Amino acid sequence: MTARVLVVDDIPANIKLLEARLTAEYFEVLTASSGLEAIAICERGLCDIVLLDVMMPGMDGFEVCTRLKADIRTAHIPVVMVTALDQPADRLRGLEAGADDFLTKPVDEIALIARVRSLQRLKVVLDELRTRAATSASLGLPDPLAHVLKEQGFKGKVLVVDDRDSSSERIISALSKDHEVTHERSPQDALFRGAEGDFDMFVVSLGLKNYDGLRLCSQIRSLERTRQLPVLMIADIEDRARVLRGLDLGVNDYLMRPIDRNELVARVRTQLRRKRYADALRESMQVSIEMALVDALTGLNNRRYLETHLASLLQNVTSRGGALSLMILDIDHFKSVNDTYGHTSGDEVLKAFAGRIKRMVRQADLACRFGGEEFVVIMPDTPISVAAVIAERVRAAMQGELFPIEGGQRAIPVTVSIGLAESLGVSDPDMLFRRADRALYRSKNSGRNRVTADAA
Ligand code: GH3
Ligand code: MG
Ligand code: MG
Repeated sequence: MTARVLVVDDIPANIKLLEARLTAEYFEVLTASSGLEAIAICERGLCDIVLLDVMMPGMDGFEVCTRLKADIRTAHIPVVMVTALDQPADRLRGLEAGADDFLTKPVDEIALIARVRSLQRLKVVLDELRTRAATSASLGLPDPLAHVLKEQGFKGKVLVVDDRDSSSERIISALSKDHEVTHERSPQDALFRGAEGDFDMFVVSLGLKNYDGLRLCSQIRSLERTRQLPVLMIADIEDRARVLRGLDLGVNDYLMRPIDRNELVARVRTQLRRKRYADALRESMQVSIEMALVDALTGLNNRRYLETHLASLLQNVTSRGGALSLMILDIDHFKSVNDTYGHTSGDEVLKAFAGRIKRMVRQADLACRFGGEEFVVIMPDTPISVAAVIAERVRAAMQGELFPIEGGQRAIPVTVSIGLAESLGVSDPDMLFRRADRALYRSKNSGRNRVTADAA
């Protein structure tokens, strides 16, 4: 995906220069020659990243940035402030105005592309989060990710790898105010500690005494355990070629010495935000996968899961010449539990019922809530004669012990009717279901609280 970059500058020649460089890297470029024009473009949602000149007549860059960050329609758009080299104080003001990163004039080509790429990655995860939040909101659902978007601090655990004392002290003191910083002199130990876990990003000096800092970056990128961690390189002016190599290796960003505290703070913050958003997305993906396949009330797999897996289970067992059995369980007169004791009590019964099933079947069996008060258990490699014994045990267990309701203040009797079928000679899941259903129907019709095996 290519990003749409808005270049804001009052001097046409500056715009031309940045436009040419960004276009050469296949970014889509929009331009604005004043702050008001820039704000209007951002408000209409036309750009993904803003490169903002500080010195402009009328509204200067600080004010533009402050306004963009104060408006919920535009606050999420990353802003890079383009400042004069001899005005380091501008960067502090920029940070205070909410700027996400900085470039100094004359703009260095590598720096330009590195900053824009880094912020583009941030924008991608941020957009994804915003889209999900909007979807949840439109469905009237609470959004588990909403709080992530509102977070301000992005406090992180940063591992600084540097063996020069004066330089590492500078880095650590700049970052310690907002983050938990750990210092490591040995690159091997740093890699080890990174893989051990529990760091959010690396800051790696390329000027290590007896080791190639780039090698460490490349190792971080290739190790499974550290692959996702952001890496920020600290380089010397003469390291330009190595910086390029590093960016090619997938290093996320870099900073040139002498280290500007505000730049360092901004870049680390951007990397940590991106990591935080990406982690949140990954977790929510996990949750929605689980939600799609697990029944929320009982914790058993749901019907969708069962239907996805039954065909392949069936094929598996048939190809080995074996058989599986399918058990359908339907609680007897469950409607009257609801009618007599209320829906909440009904839910308590369903939960306990599922718990008993789970305890009674083997690890290899697949127990599902099929819907309402119907449950299904698939038993691989189990002939129907064995399944009948298990089913009878389950039936007896339900009848044998009262079901607590109202938080354990009362207990009521519950029974179950069961139908069984076997896969021998059965080609498709539907047929297996029909047979088990038929058997269940017979259990219900002949008085409930019993097991019937399909006769076919
Ligand atoms: P039978 O012995 O013939 O199976 O009678 P039954 O009352 O168990 O069967 P019926 O299908 O008539 O009623 C099932 C009831 O289960 C109706 C429905 O409201 C209730 N039910 C379905 N899902 C839930 C649930 O998640 N929680 C609660 N509390 N009740 C549920
Ligand atoms: Mg029913
Ligand atoms: Mg029922």
